[in-house]
Amino acid sequence: MTDRYAVFGNPIGHSKSPFIHRLFARNTAQALTYEAILAPVDGFAPALQRFFAEGGKGANVTVPFKEQAFALCDSMSEEARLAGAVNTLIRQADGSIRGENTDGLGLVADLEANLGSLTGKTVLLLGAGGAARGCILPLLNAGIGELCITNRTQSKADMLAGQFAGHGKVTAIAMPELNLAYDIIINSTSASLSNELPPVPARVVGSHSVCYDMMYGKETTAFNLWAKAQGAAQVMDGLGMLVGQAAKSFALWRGIEPETATVQQALRASLASS
Ligand code: NDP
Repeated sequence: MTDRYAVFGNPIGHSKSPFIHRLFARNTAQALTYEAILAPVDGFAPALQRFFAEGGKGANVTVPFKEQAFALCDSMSEEARLAGAVNTLIRQADGSIRGENTDGLGLVADLEANLGSLTGKTVLLLGAGGAARGCILPLLNAGIGELCITNRTQSKADMLAGQFAGHGKVTAIAMPELNLAYDIIINSTSASLSNELPPVPARVVGSHSVCYDMMYGKETTAFNLWAKAQGAAQVMDGLGMLVGQAAKSFALWRGIEPETATVQQALRASLASS
């Protein structure tokens, strides 16, 4: 029987995961199917159990089920444990379910592919939601010099900084008090989704700064337009992170790391024509 994979979410119609994973499978000559499954908001666990009972090998999980998936895992990686959420489930040979969080690994892979080593870089992380939480450990493990977290609701940034303090140099500074320019500024807020900007002072952007908006779908996000206007050296959107996290999931399931550059190009072309 062909190995079966799926992404679970609600809504799920917009998901690019089937497009990405089918290309990975074709490019690596892996025989598998990958479908999008709309789980009822109050029925994620039974839908997932049915999928695995029917022979499913692995799954991705997206909004709003990442925390529920975390609670259903029998074992998990350190990234997943600290993120408090999983986006990848793997059915092990003994039938148990292992959880991973590949979002942050995908972000780091995209940054490194474009910028080279992150060693010693100063990073400002805007936002303290699920996406922010998932990328902190991978950024610290990539050797960045310093991570500063800032958020509209600053108490959440303070909490995150406290939680990760034992893993590297992590601070939390309220937006109005930020007074340095950073090497890399990552917008993990959902502000761009509504064409808004996080209220961050322009002085955080220097002429050497690389600004990264996790939002994908259009390269000219509100944040990236603003960053360019402040003189940022480079801006990037989250499409590379999306493909990168999928590649990490695929590698966990299939033991083969797919090439991502051509898949990014194909996805961008598909988004531009839709
Ligand atoms: P959450 O809802 O968990 O967190 C949202 C965050 O955005 C909070 O910190 C919130 O601040 C902040 N925020 C929302 N609106 C504004 C605003 N108008 N001004 C300032 N701050 C704001 O969302 P996620 O963390 O799950 O997702 C965040 C973004 O990351 C989304 O755009 C999502 O699409 C993207 N993403 C991209 C991925 C990729 O692969 N490229 C993967 C995962 C996420 P507060 O605490 O004050 O409410």
